[in-house]
Amino acid sequence: MILTNPTHNPNLRSWVESANQPNTDFPIQNLPFGVFRPQRSAQTPHIGVAIGDQILDLYLCCKAGLLQELPEQVQLACAESNLNQLMAMGNEVASMVRHHLSHLLQWDEQSPPAAPEILIPMSNVEFLLPASISDYTDFYASIFHATNVGRLFRPDNPLLPNYKYVPIAYHGRASSIVPSDTTIKRPKGQIKKPEVPAPIFEPTQMLDYELEVGFFIGVGNELGHPIPIDHAEEHIFGLCLVNDWSARDIQAWEYQPLGPFLAKSFATTISPWIVTLEALAPFRCPSFKRTQDDPLPLPHLSSTLNTEAGGFDIVVEVLLSSIQMRAAGMEPLCLSRGSFKQMYWTPAQMLTHHTSNGCNLCPGDLLASGTVSGAEQGSFGCLLEITQRGTQLVELPTHEIRSFLCEGDEIILRGYCEKAGYVRIGFGECRGVVL
Ligand code: CA
Repeated sequence: MILTNPTHNPNLRSWVESANQPNTDFPIQNLPFGVFRPQRSAQTPHIGVAIGDQILDLYLCCKAGLLQELPEQVQLACAESNLNQLMAMGNEVASMVRHHLSHLLQWDEQSPPAAPEILIPMSNVEFLLPASISDYTDFYASIFHATNVGRLFRPDNPLLPNYKYVPIAYHGRASSIVPSDTTIKRPKGQIKKPEVPAPIFEPTQMLDYELEVGFFIGVGNELGHPIPIDHAEEHIFGLCLVNDWSARDIQAWEYQPLGPFLAKSFATTISPWIVTLEALAPFRCPSFKRTQDDPLPLPHLSSTLNTEAGGFDIVVEVLLSSIQMRAAGMEPLCLSRGSFKQMYWTPAQMLTHHTSNGCNLCPGDLLASGTVSGAEQGSFGCLLEITQRGTQLVELPTHEIRSFLCEGDEIILRGYCEKAGYVRIGFGECRGVVL
């Protein structure tokens, strides 16, 4: 578990003015990593660190000799075109880079600010996937989501008996993970309507989003070597937001007996910035409080450390903007707001379970939490739950109605952490428009 240290000091200020604004997602206490290039260019992508409304270009920092105090291997990893090498070096190296950059970006009357040409305005860039992702696994870690969805598909038997023992997951498709701002093409698939005997092949009429939190693997593990729970977080580089787009009508017909397949694999959008576990240290919280009726997790999925501080207190939101709303200059409508601290399983438990049979994880692999839903109305992380499978309509400020997503709808995910005594940090946005 990473503890707070001088990089979290709430009194730190940056010479990048916009990083000192109270509502920025990217104050000097955050310093998340991403990969970008100038808009409409074919330039080799660079690794960057978000600071206010700017990006600190680590490749340019390297060229300007500003990373010379770091070991040469680390400098080379910072000048790469994705984060895989840096991830593979482990969280102690990521922490070394963080401390160095925190110092570099600090406002200090004694020293003049570093050269401004190492900063790129965030509005001028295109974000790419932060890592080459070789494998993607999607969990189902919200018991509220699992129960709500289970009730819609199996009213008599919403929560299956394995749920409180197994962090349920399926293998997702890494090839269709796309960066924020990629347009999403409505998929076609087999749809079986109740009133007709055979399925038809047509575009989904039940296109949905799923609000999730993802975590990137840093150091991997060797095949045949499970990761014990109290070492799990040493293998997590950081967190991002994930929209697991879902076609509910395709899903309903295909999901038994082996789980979702084409209903999910057409696209998954991730946010550009990876917020490191170190940046999140002030916002840790206990894991889900199981009731007396719940079984305890099996010993390999449980530890005092995980119970006391395995959770993350991250507020997550979904917003929708239709074509009409954008044309009228309206703000996006907030559809839900929940917290990642309400998940039944922690990232450490998910990762431990994933490797418990000896399965190997690799640097840059992505694991996602599953839809983040809370117990209350207003905290449901997908339209399937909000509209009760399309039966309770959502009204937009333009008086348009939605059961599922329509052409031109934009879904925006946001996430942030707030705690007294610390500076607020955020995840930025994860956006996608349906075509
Ligand atoms: Ca999902």
